Amino acid sequence: MEQRWQGARGILAVGARTINTGSIIKLTVAALALLAAAVIAWRSIGSSAGTGEHAMDYDETRTRWLCLDAACKEEFTLSTSELGEFYSEHEDQNPPCPACKKQNTTRASRCEACTKFYVPTHEPPATGQKPKPQTCPHCGKPVR
Ligand SMILES: [Zn+2]
Ligand SMILES: [Zn+2]
Repeated sequence: MEQRWQGARGILAVGARTINTGSIIKLTVAALALLAAAVIAWRSIGSSAGTGEHAMDYDETRTRWLCLDAACKEEFTLSTSELGEFYSEHEDQNPPCPACKKQNTTRASRCEACTKFYVPTHEPPATGQKPKPQTCPHCGKPVR
């Protein structure tokens, strides 16, 4: 009697272990599949974000410049270190335009609506008048 009970218990134990191992394998496969899907999704997001940034070719941390030459009007940016380097050698000068090489350039702001550069105006309002909200000269939308 004793032996039969032990045998039955052994079968039950083996059965339970088999079920557990099976479900663990299934879970592992599912987890790996999820991980693979996540990696693929992350890669596609990463690459699309990369090309998007490159297409825009705009870096918020760089200083914005606009060429004032009527025939050129080139928009360009300089990193703060590039600008610092230029000012250390050319005090009180404007960095040259990369297109026409003239130093007829000015610091500019960027319109968030149309992404074009514009020269911010700081005209004081006429006496007794409210200051006019600045608008983008390209698209006419109010800018900050
Ligand atoms: Zn220029
Ligand atoms: Zn605009």
